[in-house]
Order: sequence, then structure tokens, then C-alpha cells
Amino acid sequence: MTDFTMEKGADGVALITWDLQDKSMNVLRREAIGVLEALVDDALADDAVKGIVITSGKDSFAGGMDLNVLATIREEAGEDPAQALFDFTMGAHRFMRKIERAGMDPKTNKGGKPVACAIPGTCAGIGTELALCTHRRFMADNPKARIGLPEILVGLFPGAGGTTRYSRMVGAMAAAPVLLEGKMLEPKAAKSAGLIDEVVPADALLARAKEWVLSAGDADIVKPWDQKGWKMPGGAPYHPAGFMTFVGASAMINGKTKGVYPAAKALLSAVYEGALVDFDTALRIEARWFTSILMNPSSSAMIRSLFLNKEALEKGANRPEAPDQRVKKLGVIGAGMMGAGIGYVSANAGIEVVLIDAAQEAADRGRAHAEGILDKGMKRGKVTEAKKAEVLGRITATTDYAALEGCDLIVEAVFEDPGVKAEVTQKVLAAVGPDCIFATNTSTLPITELAKASDNPEQFIGIHFFSPVDKMALVEIIKGKATGDRAVAKALDFVRQIRKTPIVVNDARFFYANRCILPYVNEGVRMVQEGVAPALIENAAKLVGMPLGPLQLTDETSLDLGAKIARATKAAMGEAYDDAADAVIFGMVEAGRLGRKSKAGFYSYDESGKRLGLWDGLAEHYPVSPEQPSLTEVQHRLLFVQVLEAVRALEEGVLTDIREGDVGAILGWGFAPWSGGPFSWLDMLGTPYAAERCDQLAEAYGDRFACPALLREMAEKGQGFYARFGTGVDSKAA
Ligand code: NAD
Repeated sequence: MTDFTMEKGADGVALITWDLQDKSMNVLRREAIGVLEALVDDALADDAVKGIVITSGKDSFAGGMDLNVLATIREEAGEDPAQALFDFTMGAHRFMRKIERAGMDPKTNKGGKPVACAIPGTCAGIGTELALCTHRRFMADNPKARIGLPEILVGLFPGAGGTTRYSRMVGAMAAAPVLLEGKMLEPKAAKSAGLIDEVVPADALLARAKEWVLSAGDADIVKPWDQKGWKMPGGAPYHPAGFMTFVGASAMINGKTKGVYPAAKALLSAVYEGALVDFDTALRIEARWFTSILMNPSSSAMIRSLFLNKEALEKGANRPEAPDQRVKKLGVIGAGMMGAGIGYVSANAGIEVVLIDAAQEAADRGRAHAEGILDKGMKRGKVTEAKKAEVLGRITATTDYAALEGCDLIVEAVFEDPGVKAEVTQKVLAAVGPDCIFATNTSTLPITELAKASDNPEQFIGIHFFSPVDKMALVEIIKGKATGDRAVAKALDFVRQIRKTPIVVNDARFFYANRCILPYVNEGVRMVQEGVAPALIENAAKLVGMPLGPLQLTDETSLDLGAKIARATKAAMGEAYDDAADAVIFGMVEAGRLGRKSKAGFYSYDESGKRLGLWDGLAEHYPVSPEQPSLTEVQHRLLFVQVLEAVRALEEGVLTDIREGDVGAILGWGFAPWSGGPFSWLDMLGTPYAAERCDQLAEAYGDRFACPALLREMAEKGQGFYARFGTGVDSKAA
């Protein structure tokens, strides 16, 4: 184990370097904690050592904890995982406290050795917590580097002292963006936020840290909370200012999380309760809350989907064997809302882009869209003039198909019309070389059908982006019947270049994401028709963690689009089509209530388009019945109608990997992230209970809730989705 090594210099500074040999970014592994502790013990005991500098051998400091550690501890502990996790956490506290106290006398606070942290680049999670227990933090002046405590984003909170230390350093209010929102800060902002002490030119980093260590005196290394008379900045809970902070924070957390993210509440509890007691007791409290979060199935599911599996998919878990397919020159056909976005994200990732539309003005508008995004970035100080020129310089807006010469990938994003798409496909294929892969961004048309316009269906594929392209992280890659491996590899390599998360699915109506989200919207609309109070529908959705209620989502995507999809689906499906929601949608469209774009929909809007509240005229058309269902009943209808589609997609082979089903659901349409995705949610419920609920819902509301054969079989065997379909170590972890 050489994750940490130590070199004692003639100047009296012991330099501890963190450098995992087999990884590009440091993560804290279980055995490495003991190694680091032994090195610290050695340095503290050695009279020749005057102080310690902890740094990294890489250009970043650390990515955080190796999350598999927590899974292993839990597994090994058998009967009593909570005790094992608590003991492990307390072990980390004890060790970090040792660094913080650095051998000083407990009574006089004298005689300790200064410990500094020299942070060359990005530093997250336990890396930052380690840095926080040292006496001074120096970070290289690298504008690309970020430092922070992003644990909350995967359903955890900083549990190795970060919560207690940072909130005591800057106060609960000032700590909120870092702790509660998981904000990662660039060095200068991190200095203002008190996470680090000095920003230093990269080449002077170590020298400056060593210089400080050699000059620091006793008073420089005693943490404020170890000094007499210490008071919490911003006020402890019973101080008037502190009281206001905690009341406000509590309301803010409940408003933002709707009570479904246990980690945020646990974090606040740890800060609040910790602020009432001495530092070491506060650490114990933090460890107890941390253990309770680790034991909550939501945190393991979030870590699995949003961290481990998301990363595995991004790294090409489902990439077929094929040589490097990174895109050099991309052709985008159709410079509308989607095409312009695709052009921008690609140019931004360094790819040369030819953006084609039927008219030059339309192509120019597409390029101007990219310019608009870059201008916004400049206003926020994120984009420089040079970067803007560079990105725009990569986008050629034209009507001339000859400019596509040399393209190795085409993404077509013209009107959703098979005839127009076929014509465009032919024109493109006449202009590009024989190896070029052709992708369509269609959201509804079967890929296998569209591929008929090509002589080379094995080089034809679906690459389905979500709107707005520059913000949405998911890209759905769809294989037609004849799509070959190289096309899949090309699509995956492209998605990796533009730093988005891919899922690969087989061709079927609405692919995966739209297949699941449309029933959600329809279920909400159906309930309106049945007389369920619209506010109950919307709030039930939000209280179960959906980002938008089904009615608001319909307003956002527009009711005329809903009507268009309904008509097209009915035409394609015939008898099998269930039109229960259509009357409401068509009625609203006839009344000119098209959603946000017409400033009228299920909601009312003011002149500027600001949403005011649910439209009170709705009750005239669809009276609210005196008997209302329970909150849970509405939530189950809204969630089951989605997850059953996900199960059917798996059953039918549209999905081939449940990891993609879960990650795709959260990133694609915001499926209750706390749950870890549809399959994780079913596992939390347990398949026997899920099947039972299906039967009850089917009896009450109809066959769309009928239990799929796969779920029935799993329920009978008492099997979980991850136990049966989980792939490799990653999906078992956490
Ligand atoms: P849009 O109407 O904004 O843009 C389409 C563009 O294609 C227009 O600029 C139009 O001038 C151009 N165009 C039409 N015919 C052309 C031709 N023959 N040659 C060259 N250019 C032509 O539409 P959009 O919302 O960007 O959607 C484009 C595609 O992306 C559709 O297939 C749609 O289903 C799909 N899609 C849309 C969304 C969405 O949320 N809007 C999401 C995913 C996928």
C-alpha cells in the first residue's frame, strides 16, 4: 500500500504525498487511512520533524472517499452494520482530531507541530475534510480547480468532521452553500468562503506551505473551538441571530427537499445539535446522524445511481469493442432549438461543427443561439472573450451540404416528419464519405424505419438529446434493428466528448425516457378528469420528489405538442391506444390554453409569463369531487405508472441494463432522485409488495397498472432487481 508516502526533509518538514498509483484521481481507501495515520504518528513523534505538509502527487488533491468502502463495511458487519459504520466514522474522527491537535498539550494548547495542506487542484469530499483538520490550507491558483463538499448531491453529507468543522469555522448561514448545496468553489471563491487560507501560484505551492509550517507558532495552530470563550460565528441556536438562521434554514430545507432527502435534514440536525455542545461531542453527534443516513436505503440508492453507475456508464460500461471513435467533424442538420443546442455543446467540446438549415437565416439563427449561451457565460464570468471566439469559430452555419465533406458523424434534427427526414438523409449521404455515421435526434419515430432511407442501416443510429441541450445531462442512444457496433461506439464516444451521460436502448415506441414520462403526464391529466383536486395532484408529485407536477410539466412542454403526440400515437397503435386523457388535453387546446407559451394552461400566468397558480377555471370544466384520494394513493398512481413502463421496457429488451434504467430516469426526466431510479425504488418497496400494489391499483384504475409478468415472477421468488440484474461490483456497491 503506497497511497501515502512520507519524505522527511533536512529543513525539518515531513512531506506526506497522497498518490494512488492505479488511479488518475486520489480517493481515500480503507487501508490507506491506517497508512496515513502511521505516517502522521511517526512525524509527530520524531524530534527532527518540526511540521508536516500534506499534499498530492497528482495535479488534483482528491476526489473523495472510495464509496465502495462503506458498502464493504456494511456487508462485513452482518447483523449490526449501524454499529460498524458508526465505529468506522468515529475512527476517522479520532484520527483527524489527532492531526488537528498535532501533539499539543490538552491543557495549555502548546507544543503541537504545525500541519499544512498544499492542494494542487480539485479537492472534494473527504479530501476537503482532511484539509479542514489541518492548520492552514494553501491552494494552487488554478482556475479550473474546484474545492468543496459535494456529498449532499449523492444523498450523504460530510461525515468525517467536515460538517462540524466548516460550520464552526464560518457559521451555519455562510456554510450553507457548501454543505447544503454541495457547491464546488474555484480557489478565489474558496478563499472568500473560508475553505482555504491562501491561493498560491502552482509552482510556489509547496515552498509556501513549508515556509508557513516552519514559521508557525503555538497560537497559529490552535483551532478556535479549542480556545477558551469560543462562540459559534453567526450565533449558536439560542442566540437571537443564530435562532433566525436555524429557523430559516429549516424552512428552506423543507421547501427545497419536500422532506424526501433525509441527508439535508440530518446535516442541519448535526449542525444544530453540535452547536450546543463541545467539539468532541459534536463530532459524535455528526457520526450518529451520518450513520443514520448511511443506513437509509435512499442514500445507498443515490450513491449507486448518481455516482457509481453514472460514472460506469460515462466510462463506456456498455460500449462495444471498436477502435477509438471520437468525433473530429460533426454535421448537424436542422438549426432549430435542438440542432442549435447540439451544435453548441459539440463546438464547446472542441469539435468542428457544420450547422445546416434549409435557409441561411435559419442556420445563422442556430449559430446565434450558441453565441447567446456564450454571452450569458461571459456575463457570469465563466467564459472569456477568447473562449467565445474559439467556440464560435468552430461553427460553420450554411445551407450548403458540400460543407459536410469530411464529417465523421451527422446528427439530424429537422422537423419530426419521416418524409423530410428521409430526404435530408439522402442529401447528407451523397455529401459525406462512406464511413460517416448518421444519427437522428427524433423523439418519436422508430429508428429502424428511418434507417430505410440509408443504404447503410448498420451506420444509422438514434442519438436522442433532451431539451435544453446545454443543460440536460442525459443522451439516449437508440439502436435500430440493423445498427452496428461501430455506430454505437461512435455515439458513445461522442457523448463522452461532450461530457454527458449516455444510455443505450433498443428501438421501440418512445424509446425509454418518453415512454415512461408520457404516462406520468397522462395520469395527472386523467385525475383532473376524475375530479381529483389539481393542487393535490401537483403537490403529491412534488412531495414524492418529482421536479414538476404532471400539470406543470404539460404546461411547460405545451398542450398542443401533447395533442399532436396523442393523435400520432393513436394513429400508430389503433385499438390498443388508451385515450382517457385526450379529452382534457384537446379541450384545453381548443380553448387556446396551450401552456406557458400562450400564458394560459393548467396554470394561470401573468403578462410576463410568470406562473401565478393553478387556473381556477379548471374546476368549472372538471369539478373537484367531494371525496378525495389519500396523498399516498395519488403518489403511487403517479410513480407506478412510470416504473411499470420501465419494467416493461426491461421485459421487452428495450432496456438491457437496469443501471441505465435508473440513471436515465433521474437524469432524463428527473424521476424522484432520492429513490435512485425506478428499479431502485421497486427494490426499496420489495417486489412482493410492489406486485401487490399493482394488483390493487389495476383493480381500482385499470389495466395500465397490471403487474408485468417479470415483476410477478420476481415477487414470487422474493427477488430484487439489483440482486437479479445488477451488473458487476459497481451495482452491488454502496
Ligand atoms: P425546430 O422546429 O425547432 O427545428 C427544426 C429545424 O429544422 C428548423 O430550423 C427547420 O428550418 C429545419 N429544417 C426543416 N426541414 C429542413 C430541411 N429539409 N433541411 C434542413 N433543415 C430543415 O425543432 P426541434 O424542436 O429542434 O426538433 C428537431 C428534432 O429533434 C425533431 O426530430 C424532434 O422530434 C427532435 N427532438 C425535439 C425535442 C424537443 O424538446 N423539442 C427533444 C428531443 C428531440
